[in-house]
Amino acid sequence: MTALIYIDPAAIHPVVDGEWHRARLTGIPKPGQGITMLCGVTAAAAFEPLSERRAHGIPRQCSRCDAICRRERGIPQQHTRQSRP
Ligand SMILES: [Zn+2]
Repeated sequence: MTALIYIDPAAIHPVVDGEWHRARLTGIPKPGQGITMLCGVTAAAAFEPLSERRAHGIPRQCSRCDAICRRERGIPQQHTRQSRP
């Protein structure tokens, strides 16, 4: 028998070198499978429990992935919002 564990691909934000990225995933990647992030960074998929996410420090958001995502969704860029009084 198989114990199925369901994961939402839209909720997957891969962490590479302390930065979390966004990727267009249509399914759950296999361990070791290459993933290309929105910003172009590629890395091999690996899985850990969510409780380990901050084990090596709190991941920062990748600013390039954020900018691409905001542009696609019509959300103002972060530097634009910050420059307002
Ligand atoms: Zn990125």
